[in-house]
Amino acid sequence: MEFQPLHTLPGRREEDGRWFVFRGAGLLVEAENGSYRLPGHPVVSGLAPLRGHVLGLLGDSPCHAVEVGPETQAPPGHEFLGLRSLFGRFDETLLAVAGRAFQIIDWDRTHLFCGRCGTPTELGREERARSCPACGLTVYPRIAPVVMGLVNRGRELLLARGPHFAPGVYSALAGYCEPGESLESALRREIREEVGIEVDDLRYFRSQPWPFPHSLMVAFICRYRSGALVPQPGEIEDARWFSVDALPPLPHPVSIARQLIEAGAESIRRRESHEVH
Ligand SMILES: [Zn+2]
Repeated sequence: MEFQPLHTLPGRREEDGRWFVFRGAGLLVEAENGSYRLPGHPVVSGLAPLRGHVLGLLGDSPCHAVEVGPETQAPPGHEFLGLRSLFGRFDETLLAVAGRAFQIIDWDRTHLFCGRCGTPTELGREERARSCPACGLTVYPRIAPVVMGLVNRGRELLLARGPHFAPGVYSALAGYCEPGESLESALRREIREEVGIEVDDLRYFRSQPWPFPHSLMVAFICRYRSGALVPQPGEIEDARWFSVDALPPLPHPVSIARQLIEAGAESIRRRESHEVH
């Protein structure tokens, strides 16, 4: 099902909508026998929203994001769940809209006042923006690019784990872009800082919005060039070369990290079978 982002939905009935109701980082879901779905309009209309936003159309269905206060109790049969715990329980399109809803609410809530002069800001009518009526500053939803790199050396892949990873799990290296950097130079710098090696032959893989809280993951495959592995203290708990035949536990299948590592391993295997025949 296609999602079409829209700022307003004239003529649409609220009863037909899908409602993404957040209390902090928790999304309101109706829980029944271990399966989860979005709450219906009668339940949503009984809540006291702090703020609301039109998101757009998912197929034919208008989508709305709503924020409720921290004191809000989940109605009977419902609960507030973090988006990560909905991985694999919501389909990917619905998860992506939920991530969008969360980011817009988070942006709105953190820009109620002008960052330049402190005046309360106003929500734009024509575009997704908040503007200051006193000094004219306009702010848009934030997106922070994160570069991710899977380093290949022969039939090995470089994977690392940070101190907060689930036990045993390894992933590709990643880090935030700094102002003034290209994605390529950010990736080379992150890899140099985190494990002390140089890479080249950067090839774009794909990207994924990651709403924790407003990242855009941009993934690359690259090739080892030089240097010995020296994990950065505090950032990297362990980093090592894994044979594609003996990969460690990997991040969740929904994550671009997992897709990147599997695609990298697959391309090495394909290259080998090509060389054999
Ligand atoms: Zn201002």
